[in-house]
Amino acid sequence: MINIPKGTKDVLPSQSYKWQYIEDAARDVARVFNFKEVRTPVFEHTELFLRGVGETTDVVNKEMYTFEDKGGRSMTLKPEGTAGVARMFIENGLANSPLPVKTYYITPAFRYERPQAGRLREFHQFGFEAFGSASPETDAEVIFAASSFLDRLGLKGVKLELNSIGCPICRNEYNTALKKYFEPHLKDMCETCRVRFEKNPLRMLDCKEEGCKKITAGAPKILDYLCEDCNNHFESVKSLLSAQGLEFIVNPRIVRGLDYYTRTVFEFISGDIGSQSAVCAGGRYDNLLKELGGADLPAIGFAAGIERLLLLMENTSAKMPDEQTPVIYLAGMDARSRAECFKIATYLRGKGLCAEIDHMSRSVKAQMKYADKIGARNVAVIGETELELGEVNVKRMSDGFTEKVKIQDLYTYLK
Ligand code: ATP
Ligand code: MG
Repeated sequence: MINIPKGTKDVLPSQSYKWQYIEDAARDVARVFNFKEVRTPVFEHTELFLRGVGETTDVVNKEMYTFEDKGGRSMTLKPEGTAGVARMFIENGLANSPLPVKTYYITPAFRYERPQAGRLREFHQFGFEAFGSASPETDAEVIFAASSFLDRLGLKGVKLELNSIGCPICRNEYNTALKKYFEPHLKDMCETCRVRFEKNPLRMLDCKEEGCKKITAGAPKILDYLCEDCNNHFESVKSLLSAQGLEFIVNPRIVRGLDYYTRTVFEFISGDIGSQSAVCAGGRYDNLLKELGGADLPAIGFAAGIERLLLLMENTSAKMPDEQTPVIYLAGMDARSRAECFKIATYLRGKGLCAEIDHMSRSVKAQMKYADKIGARNVAVIGETELELGEVNVKRMSDGFTEKVKIQDLYTYLK
């Protein structure tokens, strides 16, 4: 027996309808907000993530699935969706199309992490990316879209936390303040934090080590260092969200795991999925396109983890529509009527109804049992008499109600 790799999961036939439900909700939210789907490769040149995600992040430092292909190139399975979409935007000259360019994706992502509930090595993300607008309206729209997606799934008790991490100008001053604060504590902090101290002190705030967390708790807050422009931008985003009736709390500790963020950052947090509390997270990344060699255009996006959404829906007993089952099971008594069942099923299927027939040469009794097990909503047994009369007894499985229906009227009856 060869087992599934650690940290990955199969989606079984009895479970896939839940995925489809979430994906359908995602696509429909994208539709009403006018975001268009994009698809990018599962692997990219490693360099893209080094530059796009950032060399001081956990994702790049510890979590990437990097390999050399047969041509000796370094490739990496995408650990997130944004870098690939940004590359696509640049490579295809989308900066020349009418702005903003509003995109979305549903993609697998790969991170070499310690697997636990809600934390996998292959997981799936639904994400939005809007390119070309720096306006706070776009921040508000993207955040609002994420929120309406979560609403549609009936998720209660998910809290929106918001922060601004400023632009390189205010960040510079803030980094100096952070360094001044952290310097005397460095000897008590983890090795990674000591590297971050040199390269990107902001990252230290994101450290998950208990010892470091205690120290970062007293660190200066970015919001006190925002420049006037960034501050005004943040104020506008907040008032736009409030005007939509969207509740949020400002959490100055959110810095996000990836390097490319600027200004607005946000997370949707739930208390019902254990320690992996972020179901959806995102922010503005005004410098990524330029960083990757593209036009100097701002952008903003978010990504939601589909496995975490599923987990949260299960843990909170959120409503999920029932699985779709066959509208009719056609049971044949002998060779001739079985052939007729196949014919009728083909006709109904052609009309878009889900019909099922016997595949296992079962007796009629066993076919009825099977029909019940697969949740067929109606059953019709067909034998010689039915063939002669061109008429079948359709039995509704929920209450046993039975009605005679002409074979040629079956579609209309079932529809
Ligand atoms: P965390 O703090 O939980 O590690 P992150 O900051 O690394 O999250 P992002 O890079 O923002 O996560 O990814 C966006 C979303 O993708 C997360 O909010 C989460 O729902 C989901 N996600 C991230 N990593 C994983 C994983 N290893 N397994 C399952 N879902 C994940
Ligand atoms: Mg992570």
